[in-house]
Amino acid sequence: MTALPDSVELVRQLVAEPSVSSPDPRHDRSNRTVIDRLATWCEDAGLRVEVLPLPGAPHKANLVATIGDGPGGLVLAGHTDTVPFDEAGWATDPFELVGTDDGRLYGLGSADMKGFFASALHAIRRFRAGTLKAPVVLVATADEESTMDGARALLESRRPTARFAIVGEPTGLAPVHAHKGILMEQLTIGGRSGHSSDPSLGVSALEAMHVAMSELIAFRAELQAAHHDDDFAVASPTLNLGRIEGGDSPNRICASCQLTFDLRLLPGMDLDGTRNALRARLARRFDGELVTIAVDSLVPGVPPHTTAKDGELVHALESLTGQSSRAVMFCTEAPFFASLGMETVVCGAGSIDVAHQPNEYTSRDGLDAATELYAQTIARFCA
Ligand SMILES: [Zn+2]
Repeated sequence: MTALPDSVELVRQLVAEPSVSSPDPRHDRSNRTVIDRLATWCEDAGLRVEVLPLPGAPHKANLVATIGDGPGGLVLAGHTDTVPFDEAGWATDPFELVGTDDGRLYGLGSADMKGFFASALHAIRRFRAGTLKAPVVLVATADEESTMDGARALLESRRPTARFAIVGEPTGLAPVHAHKGILMEQLTIGGRSGHSSDPSLGVSALEAMHVAMSELIAFRAELQAAHHDDDFAVASPTLNLGRIEGGDSPNRICASCQLTFDLRLLPGMDLDGTRNALRARLARRFDGELVTIAVDSLVPGVPPHTTAKDGELVHALESLTGQSSRAVMFCTEAPFFASLGMETVVCGAGSIDVAHQPNEYTSRDGLDAATELYAQTIARFCA
């Protein structure tokens, strides 16, 4: 068995491997070098390693590495990809982990969430297969930041299975039992161009979009009246009109207009049901009108996540961290692991506030604290 390098060295090596995922093919790239490094370290630490290429995208892969056998067990899960980066905003090379005297470690994906793998690996290596009464499974996914296709592929193949799962996204090591879900949609309205001096010569897509936006805002108000959850800092569902484009000239009737928007759902709201209700509402509003409307999903969407606040894992993490569990607004792969039947809690070192930003950082103390927490959780549920 080769000695596992220390946590900072592990993060340094993972940050040095670019693994940007993006719906924009100009930025999107493979995560295989990150997966291959993790596979080597897992094998060295005595785990049984499977590298699972994504169906339809063999240049991307998930990793499932297991130590111990038996029913139950604990999954420690993270994603290997990062968001694209804005080089000009970085004070240092985003692919070079730069440490400072106060213990901060700067690098792309350091907090979100390559540091997690260093903490998880150092926790797992404290245990030997023979001393575990239930398995510990390290999961590393592809494409969390773009499509969540890695997590979708795992769910499709019904693995991994265990009793509990921790998704190590940065929460400042606070246990998170719930988060919102998200839809991202694009509305395209088609009209007919014409000379603006005579409105009867065309059909304005822009004016139809004005009507559509009013419908969306009314839909939002209905959702907000129907759904409320005080666990969240923003206690209602939200809908943001994010981008609009249409027309070309003040003296031409606008022939085409496009709007993109997101909708963030509270636990208890159904992703497909909400999307269908929204589409049906727009279709009804424009029934018989001269414009064409189309609503497309920009991403498949992520369901909201929730697990019982009095669950065993929530309780364990609350007592081990001294922090009460909470709800957050960002999305994770947690609902996919929950759909596999596991009590799933989000809990990891670092802050979400620095994720997806230039000069992202994690900290040595955070990595070490996460290692301790994960090791104690393994001891409690698997040893
Ligand atoms: Zn993340």
